[in-house]
Amino acid sequence: MRLPVLISFDTEDFLTPQAHDAAGFYARTLSSLGMRGTFFVVARKALALRESGRSDVIAQLAEHEIGYHGYDHSVPPTMVERCEGRGFEGGVEALLDRERRGIEAVSEVFDASPVSFCPPGANWSVPIYETMRRLGLRIMSDCAIEREPGPPAWFSGVLVLGYHFYLDGYFDQPDLADRLRADFDTLATEAAGRGGYLTMFSHPTMVTCSAFWDGVNFQHGRNPLESQWEPAPLRTPEQTARIQRELADFLSGLAAREDLEFLTYRDVVRRHCRTVTLMPADVEVLARKLLQRFTYHDIGDQSVSPAEAFVAVTACLGGQAGDAPLEIEPTLGPIEPSPDETSAAPTTVEALQSACRALRGEGPVTIVPATVNVGNHRLGAADFLRTCCRALAEEIHHQDAETPVDIVTGPALPVVAETARFRALAYQGVWGIFPPTFTGAGQLELARLQSWSYRAEPKTS
Ligand SMILES: [Zn+2]
Repeated sequence: MRLPVLISFDTEDFLTPQAHDAAGFYARTLSSLGMRGTFFVVARKALALRESGRSDVIAQLAEHEIGYHGYDHSVPPTMVERCEGRGFEGGVEALLDRERRGIEAVSEVFDASPVSFCPPGANWSVPIYETMRRLGLRIMSDCAIEREPGPPAWFSGVLVLGYHFYLDGYFDQPDLADRLRADFDTLATEAAGRGGYLTMFSHPTMVTCSAFWDGVNFQHGRNPLESQWEPAPLRTPEQTARIQRELADFLSGLAAREDLEFLTYRDVVRRHCRTVTLMPADVEVLARKLLQRFTYHDIGDQSVSPAEAFVAVTACLGGQAGDAPLEIEPTLGPIEPSPDETSAAPTTVEALQSACRALRGEGPVTIVPATVNVGNHRLGAADFLRTCCRALAEEIHHQDAETPVDIVTGPALPVVAETARFRALAYQGVWGIFPPTFTGAGQLELARLQSWSYRAEPKTS
């Protein structure tokens, strides 16, 4: 089995004309080696390429996958700052029109239909992912919860992959091709052991510039007038030529390897975007697994998130599923916290079943509700799901309608929310463009709630 490798280029510097050539260099080099990469392009970069007459660079990049990298990347207020304090839907509303225009600009300039998004800097969050999902993008790179090589995961209704191998960090080192080869080999071995997928990434601008274009202008939330924006400082032509020579050497070595398979993000979407399909017997197995451990689980060759389990278990218990296979679309977890207190008094089979039926009264469940009314009780989503799992696992639902069912209580969030994957999430101190006081507390809370929607794809590759 060959190791799937993705090569990503954050193509963002719309202020430094020489950065256009660096993007073209990468595109030409890959094309000449028969490799395909993904260029995540900022809308204003696409427009700058067109306005400066660089149809040559546009054509070179268009031979590869074109992804989206935000409207203007680092210009304050950035995407995540625009969302903060507005909740889930308010965050999406704050972004939707602007990002729609951005995706349209990139699509038009490159005659492409992006399906992938790379967050500009640390501009990832649940409302940002939801905005991109509503605009037709299916996979998010550089995901803050996926730092290790391995299969993609689902989170908040989209596929996510981390960024693993950072080429720019080597540019100022001697023997950079040798160092890249050695460290690539280490990471490739690690990725293979974890079931595949290694992503490499670079900012083309750093091939020609000695500092980031946005750091020069927008460091710590600085917001100068557009007329005062400066291009990035350039490297000497000799430095750029050396970096290009060594990168071409490294990339040609990779191209010659038969144990690697170069994919684009669209390829990953093709491989992993499929509807979760469960038979009623699968749902009973899932219910037992959830009672043992409240987190995502593999059922056969599919993984199922607690949010998707919520849809499956309530459909079965409500009697809507019958014997037919259940097809479950990616489902979001709650978008607001559940109350802490849950009544310990038992409910009944009838009350649980009618609560399940009522959930579907207004159409398919696409977002798990924070609370569910069960008879006279108001249960948090997790306790409701656990109690439904118990009814299903113990076949209590076949018994008399008035049979009492004990409420199964426990934490409001899945086990995975307590792992470093979610615990270590932060905005402060992560990206030099945010104002130092920005914490993104509202975005972090939404991310922890979406631990409900998290599931790693099974290791099949
Ligand atoms: Zn970027």
